[in-house]
Amino acid sequence: MLLVPCPHCGPRNAADLAYRGESVARPDPLTATPEQWRTYLYLRDNRAGWQRESWYCRSGCRRHFVVERNTVTNEFRSSPLPIPKEPTSPPDPAPSPGGTV
Ligand SMILES: [Zn+2]
Repeated sequence: MLLVPCPHCGPRNAADLAYRGESVARPDPLTATPEQWRTYLYLRDNRAGWQRESWYCRSGCRRHFVVERNTVTNEFRSSPLPIPKEPTSPPDPAPSPGGTV
C-alpha cells in the first residue's frame, strides 16, 4: 500500500487518490509555440528518482496538490500546500486633483 501525504487530510491510501502525473509548468498561452504545447501536453521525463507529481484527493478533501516522490523507492519528501495566488495589493490612490489631501 502506498501512503500519499495529502496536505489537507494527512497520509491516505493511494487508492483514495487519483494520480495526475508529473507536475510541469504550463506554458504561457499567449506566447507558447505549438512545440511547447506538444511538450507540455504529451512529453514527460519519466525519470528514476525525485519528481514533482500532481495528485487529486478524490475520497477526502477533493483538492489537487503537488508532492515530490522518489519513483524508485516511493518515498515522499515534501507535502507542499497548493500555491495560493499572489495577493493583489490595492492600487496606489490617485493624486487628488486639488493637490494635497
Ligand atoms: Zn485530502
